[in-house]
This record gives sequence, structure tokens and C-alpha cells, in this order.
Amino acid sequence: RVLMNELLGEAVLQMRSKAEQKQIDLRLSLPSEPVAVIGDTNRLKQVYLNLIDNAIKFTGPGGCITISLEREDRDAVVRIADNGIGISREHLGKVETKFYQADPKAEGTGIGLAICREIVNLHQGAIRLISAEGEGTTVTVRLPLEEAEAQGEEASGPLFDKSESNGR
Ligand code: ATP
Ligand code: MG
Repeated sequence: RVLMNELLGEAVLQMRSKAEQKQIDLRLSLPSEPVAVIGDTNRLKQVYLNLIDNAIKFTGPGGCITISLEREDRDAVVRIADNGIGISREHLGKVETKFYQADPKAEGTGIGLAICREIVNLHQGAIRLISAEGEGTTVTVRLPLEEAEAQGEEASGPLFDKSESNGR
């Protein structure tokens, strides 16, 4: 059992100094009620650390990153929204591929998003990027709520719903 409120609090705390060094405002918006999922705490934390790291890396000084947690339907939904450089249409479809970087000279190896997707998929979740070049990027991560998993996998369960809304 993973309490998402706590997990995100820790991830943001861990990334705060890196954001401050770049004068980026890192905001966290949590619901007052606890939101829990089933899964591996450390792996899931790695997902959010990776996504926050990307948001910081691709946002300039004075920028803003908002991390929010909400329940939507049977999912715990986390959004990491930045107002950074964004990703052009051309690159958007490819950035989740291993080793792919829109700018090959960027720091890192282009593996972060591929790892995120793998971990999220292992948790029966879904990850989605929306981006506009020059405006910013929002990454949405959906994971089935603990109570949704406990109800078992009916025909209209979380897996089915996700593959539809995700177009895969
Ligand atoms: P690594 O994660 O291995 O350190 P990386 O950050 O370049 O390297 P990914 O996290 O897989 O690799 O991201 C792949 C590419 O997607 C990035 O190089 C960048 O071009 C683009 N990208 C990812 N997140 C963002 C973002 N928030 N804003 C703009 N571009 C992004
Ligand atoms: Mg990365």
C-alpha cells in the first residue's frame, strides 16, 4: 500500500533544492483526504522524481512547476505541469522511446521517461504527455486506486478503461 500524499511530499522535498538553484517555483497541491494505491513505494517514487527532474531540466529560471494529486473515478491522478520549453509535435511521439532526446546535447541519457512508462505499466497505470513548444509540458500519471484494485478486475475494470482512453 502506497500513500500518494506522503510519497509526493517526499519527492518534492527531495527535488526542492535543485529547483531553488534554478529559481524555479515548485508547488505541490494535495487533497486533504488520503489517496492510496497498491504498489512498490520506491519504484513509484522513482517515477515522480524522474518527472520532476525533467520538469526542472526543461524549464528556465523564474519558471513554475505544479504537482497535483487528485482522485478521478477509480484512479489516483498525478499531474506534473511546467511552463518550460515544451516538446514539439515532431518529438512528442518519440520521447518515451529509450535513449531518445529532443536535444541530443541535453544532460542525461534519455532513459527517464522509458523507465517511468515501464514502472507505471507494471502498476496497471497509464502515463500521458501533453506539450506545446515554448509553452510547457504536463505529464499525467494514472494509477488504479487501492479500493478499485480490491474490487477485482471486472470486464469494465481499470485495465479496459485505460486502453480505451489511451488509444492503445
Ligand atoms: P535522463 O532522464 O536519462 O536523465 P532525459 O531527461 O533527456 O535523460 P527522458 O527523461 O527520457 O530523458 O526524456 C526524454 C526527452 O523528452 C528529453 O530529453 C526531452 O527532450 C523531453 N522531455 C521530457 N520531459 C520534458 C519536459 N518536462 N519538458 C520538455 N521536454 C521534456
Ligand atoms: Mg529525464
